[in-house]
Amino acid sequence: MKIKALLALTSLLFTFSTNTFALDAKNCDQTPNFDFNKVLDQISKGLGKTTLKDGWYLTNYNLKIESDCTTRMKIPDLEKFYRNTMAEGTACMDRLSKKGIGKLGSVNNQCLVKLFEDKSNPPKLLCGGWPFGNDVWAVGSFPGSSKRHPYLWLSPNITKLAKENPLELQATIFHEMLHNCGYTHSEGIEIPYTCEQCCFSNDISADRKQSACNICGGKYSNEEDPAYIKDLFHWSKEHLSWGNDMRQRVYLASMRSKNTKTFTLVVNELGLASDQKNTLLKIFETKDAVARKNMLKDFSNKYATDAQKNLPLKSLLEWMNRD
Ligand SMILES: [Zn+2]
Repeated sequence: MKIKALLALTSLLFTFSTNTFALDAKNCDQTPNFDFNKVLDQISKGLGKTTLKDGWYLTNYNLKIESDCTTRMKIPDLEKFYRNTMAEGTACMDRLSKKGIGKLGSVNNQCLVKLFEDKSNPPKLLCGGWPFGNDVWAVGSFPGSSKRHPYLWLSPNITKLAKENPLELQATIFHEMLHNCGYTHSEGIEIPYTCEQCCFSNDISADRKQSACNICGGKYSNEEDPAYIKDLFHWSKEHLSWGNDMRQRVYLASMRSKNTKTFTLVVNELGLASDQKNTLLKIFETKDAVARKNMLKDFSNKYATDAQKNLPLKSLLEWMNRD
């Protein structure tokens, strides 16, 4: 059913897009490049100028901005910033598809177009009544999560981020928009973080960025693909200093390790001595829950110092201790 829905969307977009693509003269095969600004220009027909009504700005490209957001950035700037972010992010994902790095880039662009095309339920940018504390910068809804979906909710800390590191704010906005398309951090291939890093980062090395782009583009069909796990670890290694993010990613990778083969791949990425690897594998394969817990306790005590230095190992041990 899902595949059929996607195909239907593809043909819709194809019909719609005949005059929304620009030809790139440098492109030898004359494949049209995706231009989100042109898509938004089409959408803006009939919407007129940005208007304020009942505490919301309705922009001329069908994004609703809560008026509370204007205490962080003035409306023309915020509208423009958001629009540029979407144009840059979608162009980046289009390039991935054109380069043959999976098909997700164009699938996700189609999803984003559809969000903006829905005039009965426009995408929303919320800024008021932030309930999530200081550590969270933004939250994006995913389908079925709330009556208000689709929305992107920005924390008050964003004012600072917009001034000090606009690229990071772009990354954050694009990340949350991918949540609007249904991606989470708890299932499947890690898309929001890899796409934000592929499309909006200048602080990671080229080869690690390539790993992020491989994942974002959808090069791997499922999360048990050995090459996916390799890329996941390779990309996130650089961010050891991001403690929590790194732990989360390893946690996710290990959570998917329902079988010995995948578990072994995860363990192989942790840079452990072979006796540690073998013991962990033995623990993983032990069926008796009490025996497994005891073995894990022994391991954790014996290698407590290693686990303090190796965050992914710490994360893996925490995960193994959960069930
Ligand atoms: Zn997220």
